[in-house]
Amino acid sequence: MYAAAAGSAERPAPFAEYWFLMHIWPGGRGGLEHLNSTQINYSSDWDSLRPAGRYATDYELKLAVLSHEFYHAWNVKRLRPKALGPFDYSREVHTPALWISEGLTSYYGDLTLLRAGLLTPQRYLDSIAQLLTEFEQQPGRSERSIEDTSWDTWFRPGVMGDTNLLNANYSYYDGGQIAGHLLDFAIRQATGNQKSLDDWMRLLYQRHALPKPGFEPEDAVRAANEVAGRDIGEIFRRYISGKEPVPYETFFGYAGIQVDRMPAPSLAWIGVSVTRDDDGRARINNITPGSPAEDAGLDRGDVIVAVDGKVVDQDAYLKTMEERKPGDTLKLAVIRRGEMKEISLTAVPYPYTIFKLRPVENPTEAQRKIYESWVGRK
Ligand SMILES: [Zn+2]
Repeated sequence: MYAAAAGSAERPAPFAEYWFLMHIWPGGRGGLEHLNSTQINYSSDWDSLRPAGRYATDYELKLAVLSHEFYHAWNVKRLRPKALGPFDYSREVHTPALWISEGLTSYYGDLTLLRAGLLTPQRYLDSIAQLLTEFEQQPGRSERSIEDTSWDTWFRPGVMGDTNLLNANYSYYDGGQIAGHLLDFAIRQATGNQKSLDDWMRLLYQRHALPKPGFEPEDAVRAANEVAGRDIGEIFRRYISGKEPVPYETFFGYAGIQVDRMPAPSLAWIGVSVTRDDDGRARINNITPGSPAEDAGLDRGDVIVAVDGKVVDQDAYLKTMEERKPGDTLKLAVIRRGEMKEISLTAVPYPYTIFKLRPVENPTEAQRKIYESWVGRK
């Protein structure tokens, strides 16, 4: 019964039942896909409404992880790049195609929440806008292509010792999720909305899913051209294998979505990104080259414990930073390898663009058709 509910009469789901194993525990968080189940770890209660990055709440993030892991039952557990199967656990296995395996899983994970009515269209667009904002801030964007970042996965910090790749690399989950938008809108535009990325995924699945040996990167491009009915290899060459700036306006425009790029010079910026440590404090996980933080000598691994003499956890630190203005001087107390240090620095104007997405007011008939079917309204 479950197989039919998660698939359709012609395309039943490839399992009889599927188990979501949720662990709420005081450690880290993450999910791991299995053939017919997933194990997901969380350190906050199921219904926590704390903000969670580009997701409005922890609860929304949990839904996105559940959705992502469930999609892996098809993409990765059964359809995978040839290099990944059978998996050789005795060595690093490199492939440029993890943007398909992880990024498109994130694309469909989030999109499914929208199509299922768990997110409103504007809430979904807000989260994608934030994804674009964060993606375009990555110093590595001009250094590596989305495919390069997949190839480099074994060199990520924490995987193979402590590297400085954060400033030369970025997430292929994010890059692939953005590529999903480009390809989906391009296929819909090329076919008058007769075909979409859904058809592309199905074609790849039909041709390359287990027990077949998997796909090569060029199989993915060929299938996209077939589904689109014309050569759209340029999108792969320029924005996925290549690292050209993406004309988001063009691609989102096919669906009648307006892309606004807004400078935010009134926001304060010091060039630090943080993650939450086990005690809920802000631990610096990267310093942007050429930033006030670099000049002042802040370092990766420093734990920020106070700002201007006031003790802060991560939430309070982020809130404090939001309230500061360019030109403000801050005194940060940090713990570095067991020693307390005080470091002063001056915030500068936010140097990046903030993206906003919204439906255009008067879409053409073609735009309206693409938008409506893309969000799941038939
Ligand atoms: Zn995944």
